[in-house]
Amino acid sequence: MDFVNDVIAWKRDGQELDETRIRAFVDGVVSGAVTSYQASALLMAMVLRGLGDAETITLARAMVESGKTLDLHAVGRPVLDKHSSGGVGDKVTLVLAPLVAACGGVFGKMSGRGLGHTGGTLDKLESIPGFRIQLPQGEFVRQLERIGVAVVSQSERIVPADRLLYALRDVTATIDSDGLIAASIMAKKVASGTSGLVLDLKVGRGAFMADLGRARELGRLCGLIGEAYGRPTTCVYTRMDAPLGLAVGNRLEVEEAWQVLGGEGPADVREVALTLAGALLALSDLGVDAAEGRRRAEAALADGSAAEHFERWCFVQGGRWKPGEFHRLAGHEVRSPRAGYLTAIDARTVGRAAQLAGAGRQRIDDTVDSAAGVVLHRVVGDAVEAGELLAAVFSRDPARRSAASATLEGAFEVGDVEPPARDVVLEAP
Ligand code: URA
Repeated sequence: MDFVNDVIAWKRDGQELDETRIRAFVDGVVSGAVTSYQASALLMAMVLRGLGDAETITLARAMVESGKTLDLHAVGRPVLDKHSSGGVGDKVTLVLAPLVAACGGVFGKMSGRGLGHTGGTLDKLESIPGFRIQLPQGEFVRQLERIGVAVVSQSERIVPADRLLYALRDVTATIDSDGLIAASIMAKKVASGTSGLVLDLKVGRGAFMADLGRARELGRLCGLIGEAYGRPTTCVYTRMDAPLGLAVGNRLEVEEAWQVLGGEGPADVREVALTLAGALLALSDLGVDAAEGRRRAEAALADGSAAEHFERWCFVQGGRWKPGEFHRLAGHEVRSPRAGYLTAIDARTVGRAAQLAGAGRQRIDDTVDSAAGVVLHRVVGDAVEAGELLAAVFSRDPARRSAASATLEGAFEVGDVEPPARDVVLEAP
């Protein structure tokens, strides 16, 4: 196809792509008229030359229109969603979804699988026996009307262009482009019918964005796409150097989310959940701002209504949730090599250890062990003695357990100086 060759050369030479060229590319990828090597070449040109605002919005539009779009107007209320750019131990959706519903909002999410060192919400939900992540669209809508919360697996027919392009980007070192990432995230949100979105953009060593400036740029681009579609998008920036909370691994994270829903659990998970809940409720039709939304969310954690909504949600989606029923697998302990202060826990390394233990996938068709993972016993800033328990890794398989614990040992830094306390929320509206 000569035209595709010209489009690649156009971008290679630093020219702006217009709508005709972008649509020819996206439609050609979906129809098969554009080969994977042509698509990869253009993706690399996009990464190296960058995408302007207009190109990014047009790319998002072409991707939305590459498949089916969901109309959730039948719900009769704004359907709210949250997207996280990916973090280790990020179980916030499990808290946020019933919390928003308990405060009178409607939370509806189409979620993807976890890949690499970060876990996916669907795997966490599937660690609850019986939980159904595939619902027909009618049932999804009825559940939102009835109980105000539903989280399901994203249909393959939504943004097929993203599935094809993401698979190519994953193996051609072309993930890393703000425009490509923004179009990919927002196309899926727009196509799945979201009315208002809060983005939790993770910043730090365990995130794919190491600095706040870069995250702000991604947030700005996502906001532009949201605006173009009339879907208000709020960005919250949160720290991801150490894992969020103490538990990393599917069922272990559900247990921790349950603690937070009961008004307990780690302070950082609670703080992120409350901040996002405030921002989301401000996008609903309740007439509240983020501060009042947060106050309502705090009350729902304190009076048990958020936990009740979690139980109702599990029940309606078929999940047999029995708190405290879970038994941990055999564990391997990691202890401090010396006395001092815990100055860092590297989220990426903890995520990799949990993955090695069986909690995550390397390839999209790998199966996960819902009970495997890591539990931290100490957090950054704690004083520790030599030989003190820092973390435990749980796996069914002894070989995996020792490989994971060898990796996990490398996650901890112990120093002589107490590190300064740092807030988990870096920036919120
Ligand atoms: N998450 C997405 O959905 N798409 C990207 O391109 C990167 C992260």
